[in-house]
Amino acid sequence: MSSTWSASSGSDIAQLAKRTALRVALRVGQVAHAYLVVSPPGVEGVGVALWFARGLVCTSPGRRPCEQCCECVAARRLSHPDVQLLAPDKGTLGIDRARHVIRLCHGRPLRSERRVVILDQADTLTHEAQNALLKILEEPYGPSVLVLVTCRPDMLLPTVRSRCQPVVLRPRPDREAARRVAVEYGAGEGDAELLADVASGFPGRVAQICEQGRWRKAVRLVDGILDTAKEGDDLALLQLAEEMAALPDECLELVLDTLRSKLRLLLRQVLAGSPHATRAWASPDVIIEAVRIVTLTRRRLNNNVNRKLCLDGMVLVLAELVNG
Ligand SMILES: [Zn+2]
Repeated sequence: MSSTWSASSGSDIAQLAKRTALRVALRVGQVAHAYLVVSPPGVEGVGVALWFARGLVCTSPGRRPCEQCCECVAARRLSHPDVQLLAPDKGTLGIDRARHVIRLCHGRPLRSERRVVILDQADTLTHEAQNALLKILEEPYGPSVLVLVTCRPDMLLPTVRSRCQPVVLRPRPDREAARRVAVEYGAGEGDAELLADVASGFPGRVAQICEQGRWRKAVRLVDGILDTAKEGDDLALLQLAEEMAALPDECLELVLDTLRSKLRLLLRQVLAGSPHATRAWASPDVIIEAVRIVTLTRRRLNNNVNRKLCLDGMVLVLAELVNG
């Protein structure tokens, strides 16, 4: 999953970095040799890492990064010789990339006091590559700083994680902004509300979902499940479950998140007495139970269960629930 998407302004990024170890490091000048920046999907972890890199090469006597000096400007254009940003090649960061990182980290800075190497989507590092990186994590070279960026820290070896200073980014959700982003991407009012919910109110996540282009398929599947469950057509439901089971992990997660959000919005409509909502899914208790089933399914699918059986179970229970 890419974390390079950018919708945040410079000040948003500085805000994100505000209460992190990165801001403190720049202020007091005590810089670790390796950081692990953990950001939720759609939040600009790599933007924060680059902001930190600018802070390290900035020559301003005042607050760093000043965003004005030659060093800041060059780093912002990714043309600074002491700021390197590496991303996966064909979805993986392999051993060759790791060796390249080691070479970079062993090199002397050319213009600044430090050399910063940023590895985006560090979760795509192969085990071999991670083991190779341990070399520089265990015996760091003085002026080099390695920044790993990921939204999936669980994919990294504990030995790698434990040798990096953790930086966890916690943006505040903004539902209204998330809804606006969805509208900008062409979603209608209802879908925009749904998207904002699926993205937990993070505008960056909304944009990421829209750019991946799987959104409409997810909505179509979810509408199909809810309608077919109401009709009680088990055969058609099992076909939908089969269709879901064949999806790549990220798409299936999006479908389940969309299903859960749709149910939550239905619940709100039912509680507000909307006649439109009550025609399909009438009782708050039923909807709350349905949300629980979907949440449980989402969790179980992360544990290597048979996904077809798991999804079959979910759609059939939903049909039973809605038909009382
Ligand atoms: Zn500067």
